[in-house]
Amino acid sequence: MQKRRTFIKQTGILLAGIGLWPHYAFKKRPLKEKLGVCLVGLGNYSTNLLAPALQLTQYCELRGIVTGTPSKIPIWQKRYGIPDKNVYNYQNMDRMADNPDIDIIYIVLPTGLHALYAIKAANTGKHVWCEKPMAKSAKECQAIIDACIQNNVTLSIGYRMQHEPNTKKIIEWSKTLPYGKIKKVKAHVGFKITNPGNTWRMDKELGGGLLYDVGVYCINALRYTFGEEPIAVMGKHENTRPEVYKEVPETSIFEFDFPNGSIGDGKTTATQSVNLLHADCEKGWYELEPFQAYNGVQGRSSDGTLLNTYIENQQARQMDDDALAIMENRPMMVPGEEGMKDIVLLEAINESAETGKKVMLS
Ligand code: NAD
Repeated sequence: MQKRRTFIKQTGILLAGIGLWPHYAFKKRPLKEKLGVCLVGLGNYSTNLLAPALQLTQYCELRGIVTGTPSKIPIWQKRYGIPDKNVYNYQNMDRMADNPDIDIIYIVLPTGLHALYAIKAANTGKHVWCEKPMAKSAKECQAIIDACIQNNVTLSIGYRMQHEPNTKKIIEWSKTLPYGKIKKVKAHVGFKITNPGNTWRMDKELGGGLLYDVGVYCINALRYTFGEEPIAVMGKHENTRPEVYKEVPETSIFEFDFPNGSIGDGKTTATQSVNLLHADCEKGWYELEPFQAYNGVQGRSSDGTLLNTYIENQQARQMDDDALAIMENRPMMVPGEEGMKDIVLLEAINESAETGKKVMLS
């Protein structure tokens, strides 16, 4: 537990320090006009969100694919002009080490496979982007971070919300406190799911259910809205349909104690449609609803301020931010340590739900 808290504190200090580096300390860009991205896993998110977004990016472009489904290859090659030499499968993706077209390998697989393939990706010497949740355990997250350090490559986690302008305002307010001290923050995400199906997300090892899938957004939001790390965690799982939710929780409720008595209230559920981030402060309140969506993230505050900055495509913004950071040799906006902090807390929620006791992090 001491270790868990120390990790969160130390990486916070480290990243705050990095943020203070003067800009002139960074290398000038760019050697390449655009960085080449290879998508690993051609499921829904790659097919319908990332590949189309890569047609809108300024600093990176889709140049390669890794798939285990041969029938997808001609479709992707035709649609995106991907040459044969940039097509890989899970067994031969190590050969990408010798392919100068590819600069970044983006892991878009079921969560339980992130560590295995992110480490393989790092070992090719390419930069690594890894989808959220970063991995199934803090131990796996650490292994990914270590592999990227050993191979001297950057690592970024696909938390697109941290690149979204209204969310960035909330993050800024955690420092400027325009409504006074933040006393309580609520971050709830839920969907009324009648039939969740038999997908990897419902598998305990590969997915871990909604707590992993969208719970990390709530955990991340509680942390970035306070701009602080929690010191204790209570967690509880509820299940009204044990015949459906056999391996993973249907609902998870969690409470984080932040320093100075502030409270974080988190929830993920398959029983109710909700998507709200709400902060109660000493001199007012503010919220985003939805706070976690591909588009339409918007909000308001107690004095009538609207949070409604529009961007065309979150994924394009995220990938351009990250590609430009690589080109300019700047730290990633959402590094591996940030993804790992959420998994450390997610494991604390599960530990508390199992024991019925508060998990102390300091
Ligand atoms: P998906 O089920 O649509 O696709 C998963 C892909 O992995 C498929 O192409 C499948 O063939 C492949 N795969 C390889 N080995 C597999 C195995 N053993 N079992 C199952 N599939 C296997 O999932 P998705 O929605 O594309 O999600 C992929 C990743 O992207 C997940 O990490 C998810 O959390 C993340 N995601 C992120 C966002 C976001 O907004 N950042 C949104 C959706 C998904």
